[in-house]
Amino acid sequence: MKKPKEPKSATLTVWAGEDGPFWERSTQVPVVHSVSFGYNDMDEWLKTGQGKASGHIYSRNTNPTVQAFEDKVARLEGSEAATGFASGMAAISNTFFTFLSPGDRIVSIKDSYGGTNKLFTEFMPRFQIDVALCDTTDHQAIETAVAAGCRMLYLESPTNPTLKVVDIAGLAQKAHEHGALVVVDNTFATPILQNPLALGADLVLHSATKFLGGHADALGGVVCGPPELITAIYHFREINGAALDPMAAYLLLRGMKTLDIRVHRQSENALRIARHLESRPQIEQVFYPGLESHPQHDVAKRQMKAFGGILSFSIKGGFETVCQVLPRLRYAHRAANLGAVETIAGPPATTSHVECTAEERAAMGIPENLVRYSVGIEDADDLIADLDQALGGLS
Ligand SMILES: *Cc1c(COP(=O)(O)O)cnc(C)c1O
Repeated sequence: MKKPKEPKSATLTVWAGEDGPFWERSTQVPVVHSVSFGYNDMDEWLKTGQGKASGHIYSRNTNPTVQAFEDKVARLEGSEAATGFASGMAAISNTFFTFLSPGDRIVSIKDSYGGTNKLFTEFMPRFQIDVALCDTTDHQAIETAVAAGCRMLYLESPTNPTLKVVDIAGLAQKAHEHGALVVVDNTFATPILQNPLALGADLVLHSATKFLGGHADALGGVVCGPPELITAIYHFREINGAALDPMAAYLLLRGMKTLDIRVHRQSENALRIARHLESRPQIEQVFYPGLESHPQHDVAKRQMKAFGGILSFSIKGGFETVCQVLPRLRYAHRAANLGAVETIAGPPATTSHVECTAEERAAMGIPENLVRYSVGIEDADDLIADLDQALGGLS
């Protein structure tokens, strides 16, 4: 018999991980709050404990609701295995500390997420892990750093908050020539628009808090990849305890059912808004990989199906002008989050790079007059009118 074709992502968002059968024939994945799972028979208990039979022992290790979440993300990323975490930062730090030991070297980019950057600059040095942070768009510099020897190449694309794009396939190939493990944070693109494993990465991770959940009501993280790597990460996580809560796993699962339609709508909205802002006299620069003016537009076109729901723009004037405009926005939460159904706006100083000083942000090429704008699923005409009225009062 012919193997059935792998369904498209819109079908997977709804059905993957939800095969059941579930308790009392419920059609929805039950939220299993139980910390432990009981066995009458020692033989079965032992087999389950040794991983020779399916089942659960203790929810810090595995839990049925969390497993449904892991299965759904794994299928969407085209991977065989996944393991869930209490947050995106837990997924990132567990991945690092599973594979990196004192004396190892990691190569990454200057534009990584603020919390990830703190791991590089504050914590890794304490563990004698050597960190090389390269200019995000200088591929030659990244290749040279990799060729000098490294255990892990860690990438993010598009980046936060200036939406730079790195060539994942090209860099993964170079890194593999030197025996490095390639890890990609796919939070901004989502599995709907970009699949780093298909581009050659070894592991892909997400802050599920953002687009995967999509409703700004649950924290979570996840790492996907081949079983041998995921088993190692899972083992580190079961011991250090950064487990995903079953209620959060349920909220993330529920959010993910609409991931495909949300992300496509957000991408369409973002492209229209980016084009519109480019024509506004108050705007200095618009950062969005979907714009022909974006320096890595061609790479983005090659590795992404659409350009995502996040854009940023700098406003003529300084931080004071940003402080004038933001409170005037009617359809945007002024908040640190991103990837939700509602539009969210904020400056790097209080969002992605709150951990950094103004000098550090300047050194990273992040202007103080920047606004990160996470586009929601509202009507684009309403969002454009809202931005126009907020910018209107400026000279
Ligand atoms: C938010 C975010 C993280 C951290 O995720 P948390 O769930 O907040 O811990 C990591 N990477 C990127 C790109 C993010 O936007």
